[in-house]
Amino acid sequence: MTDATLIDGKAFSEKLVERVAERAAELSAIIGRPPALAVVLVGDNAASAVYVRNKIERTTAAGMRSVEHRLDADTGQAELLALIDELNNDDGIDGILVQLPLPDQIDEDAVINAITPDKDVDGFHVVNAGRLATGQDSLVPCTPFGCLLLLQDHLGDLSGLNAVVVGRSNIVGKPMAQLLLQQSCTVTIAHSRTRDLAALCATADILVAAVGRPEMITGDFVKPGATVIDVGINRVPAPERGEGKFRLTGDVDFDSAAAVAGAITPVPGGVGPMTIACLLRNTLVAAARRFDATIGEI
Ligand code: NDP
Repeated sequence: MTDATLIDGKAFSEKLVERVAERAAELSAIIGRPPALAVVLVGDNAASAVYVRNKIERTTAAGMRSVEHRLDADTGQAELLALIDELNNDDGIDGILVQLPLPDQIDEDAVINAITPDKDVDGFHVVNAGRLATGQDSLVPCTPFGCLLLLQDHLGDLSGLNAVVVGRSNIVGKPMAQLLLQQSCTVTIAHSRTRDLAALCATADILVAAVGRPEMITGDFVKPGATVIDVGINRVPAPERGEGKFRLTGDVDFDSAAAVAGAITPVPGGVGPMTIACLLRNTLVAAARRFDATIGEI
């Protein structure tokens, strides 16, 4: 039985993509071509291939151009860096996304930091991370930005709220904490060494789970009435659906958490769709900034 309000990321993301598409048309008229995103996929990771296909389809559907670069799994770092250099210098490309994870022979940090910060639509470049941390204009990582939009839509002003972010990765946990701090939340970042995680989480008005452990955050981690954002996407066996079948689940045990929370995001249909919507938004913003073009609010 769900008592909590369901935060519908799918519906919110569809409206955001509509606004992005309107603004993309506006920008296309100003700069004489659609905003363009280059997507680089190295190797044959099945999940990455699905993510890349979705990103390309959604980019095109929003009236932007998408250019795909597929490289073999044994591609060397120098070859990938040469491609990034080419894309950095290509005036017809506004955003560059390198799908992670990369094969072992490639240093991910070196690749991320080779992308020119102005085209870094994932917001992972150390310059964009630094700008975010110091409150300067930056391209913000898509998943935490999507979480922030959902929180603001549901709660309005976040100022003064206690937020606990479980997970300290560079792509989710840390930028999420920075965004919440910017909104004047009192922020705690928890991780695998945190002591008494359940008690800490139970102090949170906003609880963000970005752990990568299926259904780890149960109802006893949740403060009554709290807003719970489940970033996790985990594929777990679902024998009830048939032999060899899987289902997607979050890092939050939905039923027990929803019985205590005030509001909660589902998996799927919560944070996931927001990530792609924010990628499209970042591509549009990057293109507008590159051409110093003014477009309406997104
Ligand atoms: P990482 O594996 O990079 O980070 C996981 C974090 O969780 C680490 O900081 C780790 O701590 C912490 N952690 C692990 N186990 C525990 C534990 N038992 N108690 C407390 N903290 C723990 O994952 P990501 O940040 O990349 O992703 C997190 C989740 O979000 C995954 O499920 C991923 O699939 C999902 N995801 C979803 C996206 C979306 O679009 N919705 C996009 C990106 C990710 P430590 O640092 O100490 O090891």
